Amino acid sequence: MKNRKPFVAGNWKMNKTAAEARELVAAMLAPLRELGGVEKVLCPPFTSIPALSAALAGTDIGVGAQNMHWGEKGAFTGELAPSMVKEFCKYVILGHSERRAYFGETDEGVNRKLHAAMKFDLTPIVCVGETLDQYEAGLTGEVVSRQMQAGLADVESTFASRIVIAYEPVWAIGTGKASSGENANGVVKQVIRPAISGLFGDTIAQSARVLYGGSVTAANATEFFSQPEIDGALVGGASLKADEFVAIVKLSQQ
Ligand code: PEP
Repeated sequence: MKNRKPFVAGNWKMNKTAAEARELVAAMLAPLRELGGVEKVLCPPFTSIPALSAALAGTDIGVGAQNMHWGEKGAFTGELAPSMVKEFCKYVILGHSERRAYFGETDEGVNRKLHAAMKFDLTPIVCVGETLDQYEAGLTGEVVSRQMQAGLADVESTFASRIVIAYEPVWAIGTGKASSGENANGVVKQVIRPAISGLFGDTIAQSARVLYGGSVTAANATEFFSQPEIDGALVGGASLKADEFVAIVKLSQQ
């Protein structure tokens, strides 16, 4: 039994119109509400955030954004400021590998956004993970450690305890080829918790929630949830199916 509360977030990526999002959330709302003892978060596209925020008001299911800008306002066409996210959301995903790969997001950018999340009282889900080439070259530890050090630099310890880390090997995201539980647990134990400890001390390293992400399904979720260092999942594709996502949340209950 781990003494960290399980955490499961669904990343809907660029899927679902607002009308479709309302339907999906309606299909999962009642069964999700029955699953206590787990922190549950849904991260739809921006246009569906107000609808989800309304549908989930008064429940224990939170809403998260998939990204945001670090600036408070100004000439950043197409971007959303932290205050705009905060109007509807409690959470924000930062540094997802798709943002890093397709939109040039860097560790420094992630760090600026993390500082903005701190200022606007948003709970960040910070994604780290190595590419297939890096994995095959044995560089996982080096890459993830660098992402942690640079991404979480200069954050206040009082805020650090709220940060959720998602270890998402890029080669496992959307590929149907999940990491083994043992491999993911090893990265969390040998790289991620030591990095948190180096930055903020051992107490925070032991209490911080660290998720696994990458082709999680109801069929393989237990392999991750049973690992001593893994506290939940960031779920992409499988979070778009109500039954599947509910089943994954249920499996995360301790
Ligand atoms: C993700 O989007 O963070 C993710 C892990 O996707 P998938 O579950 O589809 O691999």
